[in-house]
Amino acid sequence: MRPFCCWLCVMGLLVSGCSPPARDLEQTTTRLMMGTLVTITTFTTTAQPQQWQERERQAVAAAFTAMEQVEQMASRHRDDSDVTRVNNAPRGELVVIPDGLVQMVRTGLEMSHRSGGAFDQGLLPLIRLWGFSEPLAPTHPPDPTAIQRWLTQRQQSQQPAIQLLPDARLVLRDDSVGLDLGGLAKGSALNRALAVLQQQGIDHALVNIGGDIRAHGRHGNRPWRVAIQHPRREQHILTTVELGAGESIFTSGDYERFFIHEGQRYHHILDPATGFPARSGLISVSVWSRHDSSLPLDGWSTALLVLGAERGLEMLRSATGIEALLVNEQEEIIRTAGFPAIQR
Ligand code: AMP
Ligand code: MG
Repeated sequence: MRPFCCWLCVMGLLVSGCSPPARDLEQTTTRLMMGTLVTITTFTTTAQPQQWQERERQAVAAAFTAMEQVEQMASRHRDDSDVTRVNNAPRGELVVIPDGLVQMVRTGLEMSHRSGGAFDQGLLPLIRLWGFSEPLAPTHPPDPTAIQRWLTQRQQSQQPAIQLLPDARLVLRDDSVGLDLGGLAKGSALNRALAVLQQQGIDHALVNIGGDIRAHGRHGNRPWRVAIQHPRREQHILTTVELGAGESIFTSGDYERFFIHEGQRYHHILDPATGFPARSGLISVSVWSRHDSSLPLDGWSTALLVLGAERGLEMLRSATGIEALLVNEQEEIIRTAGFPAIQR
């Protein structure tokens, strides 16, 4: 029996060209970045796992570097970022900005226009008053007179308060305006990360920046699956969604950064019309699309949370190819017909 067995083994190796069988490989790398956890997951079927892993490591490192560059450019928390350079310039002075920032600011201006001002990338002075992104999280609202002062100054502002000239120069009109691209930065970072992974020959990947996610390729013989966080039950999943190649999903919610003061929830997405956290009846908004760029989608999730279900869905109708899943204060789910298949 033994010689026969060995003979079979030898024959087996000869037939397969001495190569081991291909197997599925999933790799996950996580880093703390942009104030949240960023995860890149890749998938492949390969007979040479070691070679693949080496290539994958390099590609993933390059994708993280690309996202760091977005943060370097667009973070208002970094002293050396382009956004800080703009914010520190005297008001009324033209500042030359890099192409990547032009793209973000242009999308921000477009989103502001489309959302009737609900999306506003110029809210830095108000955001500073509330302090949600500061190292020491706030526990109570700011002085209402300070908010009122900002609102008055804003109403008296020369319009447009943010102006982008065709030659990549940007001007902020007065002290009521300052750039905060927190509502767009993840979209830009996802675009860059996916472009790099593709360039480096990664055919299947999922990039997740704190729940804002973009898919490339597939997870073996099925689409990628992603979870949407439950807005009220921590560590619970609201639902799971299948993401096809090139599709993204962005979620904005009142549970991400918040405090409760005298029984009232105050959160980090502010309504420029009131100067207070948005109270639109929505507690979570997820938007989906398969557009080439994730940038506008990032803006839409933020804008819809401010606009509420009725006005938000009305405005979304003008944006082709974007679907939404909304959760209201009663924790009811409202979703548009094209929102991707849901697994429960
Ligand atoms: P997101 O998680 O994409 O919804 O973005 C939330 C972040 O966007 C906040 O942390 C602020 O930096 C910024 N932000 C807050 N309110 C607004 C608003 N009305 N329009 C645009 N950006 C905002
Ligand atoms: Mg956003």
